[in-house]
Amino acid sequence: MTAASLNPAQLEAVHHLAGPCLVLAGAGSGKTRVITHKIARLLQHGLAPREIAAITFTNKAAAEMRERAHGLVGPRAARELVVCTFHALGVRLLRSDGERLGLKPNFSILDADDVLGVLRDAGGTTDAALARRWQWAISLWKNQGLDADGAERAASNDDERVAARVMRRYQERLAAYQAVDFDDLIGLPLTLLRREAEVRHKWQQTFGHVLVDEVQDTNAVQYELLRALVDHDDERRRLFTAVGDDDQSIYGWRGATLDNLRRLPQDYPRLKVIALEQNYRSTGAILRAANAVIAANPKLFEKRLWSALGEGEPARVVECDGDEHEAERAVARIQALRAAGQAAKWSDVAILYRANHQSRALEQKLRAAQIPYKVSGGTGFFDRAEIRDLCAWLRLIVNNDDDPAFLRAATAPRRGIGHQTLASLGEFAARWKTSLFEALHAPSLGTAVKGKAIDALHEFGRVVVDLEHRARQTQGADDARALLLGWLHDIGYEQYLRDGEDSPRLADARWSHVLEFVDWIARRCGGEVRREAGTVEIERQSVWQVAQTISIVIGLAERGDDDDVVTLSTLHAAKGLEWPHVILAGVNEGLLPFRAEGDEMTPQRLEEERRLMYVGVTRAQRTLVVSWLRRRRKGRDTVAGVPSRFIAEMRQGEAAAPKEDPRERLKRLRAELAARPAATG
Ligand code: ATP
Ligand code: MG
Repeated sequence: MTAASLNPAQLEAVHHLAGPCLVLAGAGSGKTRVITHKIARLLQHGLAPREIAAITFTNKAAAEMRERAHGLVGPRAARELVVCTFHALGVRLLRSDGERLGLKPNFSILDADDVLGVLRDAGGTTDAALARRWQWAISLWKNQGLDADGAERAASNDDERVAARVMRRYQERLAAYQAVDFDDLIGLPLTLLRREAEVRHKWQQTFGHVLVDEVQDTNAVQYELLRALVDHDDERRRLFTAVGDDDQSIYGWRGATLDNLRRLPQDYPRLKVIALEQNYRSTGAILRAANAVIAANPKLFEKRLWSALGEGEPARVVECDGDEHEAERAVARIQALRAAGQAAKWSDVAILYRANHQSRALEQKLRAAQIPYKVSGGTGFFDRAEIRDLCAWLRLIVNNDDDPAFLRAATAPRRGIGHQTLASLGEFAARWKTSLFEALHAPSLGTAVKGKAIDALHEFGRVVVDLEHRARQTQGADDARALLLGWLHDIGYEQYLRDGEDSPRLADARWSHVLEFVDWIARRCGGEVRREAGTVEIERQSVWQVAQTISIVIGLAERGDDDDVVTLSTLHAAKGLEWPHVILAGVNEGLLPFRAEGDEMTPQRLEEERRLMYVGVTRAQRTLVVSWLRRRRKGRDTVAGVPSRFIAEMRQGEAAAPKEDPRERLKRLRAELAARPAATG
């Protein structure tokens, strides 16, 4: 680490080890860089790697940080660092000490789909939309730190009271399945640390310093978890470094709150607050566009950002006929950037948009033009039925009590276990208060399930136990791959896919996803995670160990692609990242700011949408194109498109453009002076 790579304000943040520190600064000012360098500083200061916890919002950011730390402190130390998301940290705490809350170490993590299934069951409904509303309500309650009792008290109308009652039954089911949902990964560790002093002290002792990136997007429960982790009895040991930007707070809809930023100085009177003002990412023109957009929002903290990178090309606004035309123009733009040598690699370009569905037209045109791309932000790959099948198996071998996983695995492939058999097994399990898996081994099961069906169940149980046993033993990537392929062969999974698919081409595609997934697991077993900038090493694991974390890795991550490809991403998933060339697509009223039918646009929502636009604009380093549609799809219809108000706001920045940036002018004058023949001097 050289001091030259940090400016004085950054250095101050990195070297402040005597107390808590908050870096509050605009986009691209090197906040994340402060975290990475501070990790190195702490290591030099004598902290062991496992005593440092760096919390990031996405797994992508975590991988990037480890990668950077890798360069600074070497592979071994980088591997032992606890660099992860709040959710993954929660998993670590619960696997280690969750038993104090009645949770076995092998608990399952339910994804959103499983949760919906459990909710339909708990609420006795087949109405998916209703179940989804419950899911939202329960999630928001949990993010406010409420349990079912608290939710019942907080419920203010009949709908909410019903949701609170469903929440109670939902929680009972989760307890029976030894399962938790994503929100529990934050809430339960907090309960644990608050309730168990011994556990709290252990973890406070373990982490000598906690670092948090993107702190503006923490919710109330995450903030409390952070406090519980760092609030040592000895005030001098309350050490953490948080960095964030209130103008980039974009997860309010998921319960994140800027109150945390306001509370930090009150909760920690010794907090050192540091501002960064130089933006190292973007040209002057892009920065001005960004500042003009965010200027329309009320200010929580006054910030000034300047760039020494020169004026650069002005941000371009492009008007398109419709989404296909927009996609064609994006393709043309990318090809032009490549041809002119402005983009040396495909991965120099990103196309960003507000909603997942906006990628469709873009993907189609990119494919047609044979431009390689990846879609990040959505969990598309992991949502596929075949991948979810395999995940169910993996979850079941880790946690036999995971009934939702049992139901899926037992029927994928179908092996003589029909719905009737499963229903009978379910009744039997409920009567004896056991999990489905346990029920399957009960000697008296014969009273509930007959003949062939019972043989099929037993055979299924045998395969699960066998896989579980062998998954614990694998060593390295090749071993893992061999085990998984052998098992898939034994259960006839490929044939099952082919039987269920009319088109051989589709069946091929699905099977290739399975193979890709096997490879993805195997690489993790071998201790490697591939990333754009190279390979990151993690600890070697058995298949069983990888299976333990599968839901969390999948839930918050995307596939780690190492390819040189164009990135398509939602604005939310682009947070913290940067590309030389950025295209913001579909910048229309109704899309960005997003507005659903019948939706009320409150000032708060509009401000959050504006922050999203700000995040989008500030991802660009050298060029920015903002495109909008004259006609856009709305359900089945096509409606007239109106350019987003954010475009007009952005253009206010152009009006304010200096004829020439003063720094540029100085640079030019110096160059002219230097070039002047000596005789004239
Ligand atoms: P965001 O708000 O988008 O998360 P950030 O404040 O975290 O941005 P970084 O991602 O840390 O900013 O830095 C932005 C870019 O500037 C990166 O490419 C980083 O390497 C570079 N950078 C940061 N600080 C310096 C510095 N002192 N000297 C040179 N480059 C720097
Ligand atoms: Mg950052």
